Amino acid sequence: MQSFQLGDTRITRIEELIGPLFDPVQFFPTFHQGLVDAHKDWLFPNHMDAKTGRIIASMHSWLIQTPHHNILIDGCIGNHKDRNPYRAWHQMTTEWPERLKATGVDPTQIDYVLCTHLHVDHVGWNTQLIDGTWRPTFPNARYVFSKAELDHVEAMLNGHDPNDDFALVNQKTYHDSIKPILPQTDLVIESMDLISDRLSIALTPGHTPGSITLGLTSFDERARFCGDICHHPLQIYEPSMNSAYCELPEQAIQSRINLLEECAEDNLLLMPAHFGPSHAGRVRRKASAYEFKFC
Ligand SMILES: [Zn+2]
Repeated sequence: MQSFQLGDTRITRIEELIGPLFDPVQFFPTFHQGLVDAHKDWLFPNHMDAKTGRIIASMHSWLIQTPHHNILIDGCIGNHKDRNPYRAWHQMTTEWPERLKATGVDPTQIDYVLCTHLHVDHVGWNTQLIDGTWRPTFPNARYVFSKAELDHVEAMLNGHDPNDDFALVNQKTYHDSIKPILPQTDLVIESMDLISDRLSIALTPGHTPGSITLGLTSFDERARFCGDICHHPLQIYEPSMNSAYCELPEQAIQSRINLLEECAEDNLLLMPAHFGPSHAGRVRRKASAYEFKFC
C-alpha cells in the first residue's frame, strides 16, 4: 500500500485496478507519435505499455487521514455494477474494500467522500449492493461534490444520443451510485474551505462543467488532488492536449494551465486520479512549459 506523509496527515492510495487501459489515439484526439519519441525516457514502462502502445491508467481513490478526519477522494468504478457496453468495467469484483480496510479505516469511519466529478470511474464506491439494493458504502459520511456537476448530470439523464455509450454508462451510474447517496450529500456552490486551514475546494470547470479540485494543507506542506484535470503525465508537458472526455474543451485547457502554474509556483504535491506509478509528484517549470517529477 502506497502512502505519502504530508505534515501530520497521511495520504494512502487505494487501488482498484491498473494497466494498459486506453488507446492513446482514441483517448487523446491530438495524440501523435512524436510525443512518444520526445518522452520515451520516462514513458515506459509505468505510463505506456511498449507491447500494445496503450497508455497505462490507474483507477484509485485517495484516503486522507488527518488527526481528526478520514476523507476519501473519488470512488473509482465499484463492484457488481451494470456497466454494459463497457465490458471491462461490467460486474467488477475487485478487492478495493479489503484494500481500504487494510489501512485500518472502516467504511463507517469515513467522514467525507469527495467526488471531483461524477463520471463513472469516480463515484462507483459511493454505493454497494446489499440485499439487492444500492446503499451508501459510507453510512456516516457526508458526500461532497459540486451543484453544477449534479445539475449537469441530471440534465443529461433524458434525451442523450442512444449511440453514445459514455452517456449511457453515466446514466446508469447516476441511478446506482449517485441518486442513493443524495440524502447525505452537501453540494458545493462556490470555492470554499471544507475543513478550515486544512482542506479547501476549488471550482475548476472544463473536464466537466462541475469539476472540483481539492487543496490539502498540513503545516507548511500542500497537496492538490486534481481529479481528471490531467489524466496522464503527458498532459503536463502538453497542457493543451485534452482527453476525448473533456466536456468543455477550452475551459479544460485553461483549468489545466492554471493548475500546473499553481503547482509549480507553490511547490504543491500533485495527486491525480489516474497517473501510473508512483502516482503523484511535483510540477516544475521547464523553459516555457512544464515537466513532472514523480515522488
Ligand atoms: Zn476519471
